[in-house]
Amino acid sequence: MTDHFRFGDAGDLDRRVRENQAQRSANLKPAYDFIVCGAGAAGSVIARRLAENPACDVLLIEAGGSDEAESVLDPGLWPTNLGSKRDWGFQAEPNPHLGGRALPMSMGKGLGGGSSVNVMVWARGHRSDWDHFAAQSGDRGWGHEAVLDIYRRIENWQGTPDPQYRGTAGLVWIEPPRDPSPLAGALLDAAEALGIPRFDNPNGQMMEGTGGAAFTDMLVRDGRRHSLYRAYVRPFADRPNLTILTDTLVRRIVFDGRRATGVEIERASSILTIAASTEVIISMGAINTPKLLMLSGLGDRDELARHGIPLVRHLPGVGHNLQDHVSFGCTWEYREPMAPRNSGSEATLYWKSRPDLEAPDLLFCQVEFPVPSERTAMRGVPAHGWTMFAGLAHPHSRGQVRLRSTDPSASPIVDANMMSDPRDMEAAHACVKLCRDLGNSDAFTPYVGREAIPGVGSEIDDSFIRDAAVTYWHQCGTARMGLDDMSVVDATLAVHGVEGLRVADGSILPKVTTGNTQAPCAIVGERAAEMLRSRYGL
Ligand SMILES: Cc1cc2nc3c(=O)[nH]c(=O)nc-3n(C[C@H](O)[C@H](O)[C@H](O)COP(=O)(O)OP(=O)(O)OC[C@H]3O[C@@H](n4cnc5c(N)ncnc54)[C@H](O)[C@@H]3O)c2cc1C
Repeated sequence: MTDHFRFGDAGDLDRRVRENQAQRSANLKPAYDFIVCGAGAAGSVIARRLAENPACDVLLIEAGGSDEAESVLDPGLWPTNLGSKRDWGFQAEPNPHLGGRALPMSMGKGLGGGSSVNVMVWARGHRSDWDHFAAQSGDRGWGHEAVLDIYRRIENWQGTPDPQYRGTAGLVWIEPPRDPSPLAGALLDAAEALGIPRFDNPNGQMMEGTGGAAFTDMLVRDGRRHSLYRAYVRPFADRPNLTILTDTLVRRIVFDGRRATGVEIERASSILTIAASTEVIISMGAINTPKLLMLSGLGDRDELARHGIPLVRHLPGVGHNLQDHVSFGCTWEYREPMAPRNSGSEATLYWKSRPDLEAPDLLFCQVEFPVPSERTAMRGVPAHGWTMFAGLAHPHSRGQVRLRSTDPSASPIVDANMMSDPRDMEAAHACVKLCRDLGNSDAFTPYVGREAIPGVGSEIDDSFIRDAAVTYWHQCGTARMGLDDMSVVDATLAVHGVEGLRVADGSILPKVTTGNTQAPCAIVGERAAEMLRSRYGL
């Protein structure tokens, strides 16, 4: 597929998009071929791939608004979106395993979803993750070799050529950080000194072995955020067969028996139903997707009965298996203040908490400013500091999303349940130890004044881990793909036991991947579109 290109400047595309979408959203049709719910990482990919066929009439619905804002487009401003109208602002339940703390669980709201508010890191997931998905789904199309082909096809890699692993003709512009901070180089040097290999980029060979360190791959183009919405949908938004409806809440999936026939939406205080003549695709992220499924009668029969929701299909796994990376940041004071560069996160490291592991279970992203938890902040946050955002790539703890009420605008209950599995505490101690070994090593001496958090000489006990734990914002797994009774979708992402309905977003991942999750969500979108096109001969 080629990118949509017409001669004319970007301003011309802006105008065409504005006019086209204003006209289309003012003249909504009663039915579209496909309705994609959620314009986030996966939804953006699906809407674009379907709309590439001019005979397909696609409606893309997004609860949030436009992505035209400096806080989105300037890579250095990503933290300013947290807690803003671009954040769903979920709050996890108080967690006894974190000393009763209730963690904020941000997720992106608006065109691009998470890919418009995140840290722009591109991380494709480890070979073993994808091979596990293939085994769980019974489809080799989810395996590493097949997925690597998709990555090569969609990437437009700007770093040192690596044709075995990296593509250069796709839609997703990926670059290594330009003129990175010396702090990022120091992490690679520190890793090497500890025997952790250094790689030219994190998404080639490094994702197949026991780990390593590299400069981060970033979705930044010409100094601006290159979200998956910008990569996929924006260049197509002037097409007559793609309607993008912002500020519109999907309230329920509408069924005729067990066939999904459309969605009920709320737009400008009106509630209306729009039909999908072919399929409805749910891509609303790992918290809102299970909520919508349950509100629509897909979930555990007893749970739905408690809320008086008529059952369409008993799917006990909906909302279960909530997974997320958990991080325990350690912070150092700069010797001399240094301004963050690019997104402020330019080096990444994967390693093992125990030597006998075959794949990494620890995930580090260096952050060039302090990122304490509200509890560790009490130890004193330096005015000029940086954080090793270090966490568990494969936590054993599992959480759950449940309905709080039947009101479609109410937040669900998010029981993140982090650190409930004792094995996570053991890995967390190894993680914090490695963090301090790196940050206090010779490579950082020119840049570091002192360790501020945990603090020079302080003992690490379980309570430090509980106080430091925060989300990496990689929620997934709540409508997982598989063949067993607790799975929600099959290998084609069709929801078990109903027709005309797929789920395609981070919810379907059986297990959180090794690394940041937007790239795997893009793969979920590509796979969903591939399967829809093949099913309907598009
Ligand atoms: C602060 C932050 C930093 C992160 N950093 C990184 C990073 O650097 N690299 C990385 O790889 N990953 C990162 N992530 C995670 C990554 O962004 C997500 O894993 C990814 O975006 C998930 O994709 P998705 O398609 O599952 O859902 P999302 O991208 O969350 O998209 C879901 C979309 O559905 C919309 N929606 C939800 N409910 C409704 C409804 N009822 N009606 C209509 N629309 C609805 C949402 O508004 C949203 O736009 C970060 C996330 C956050 C929040």
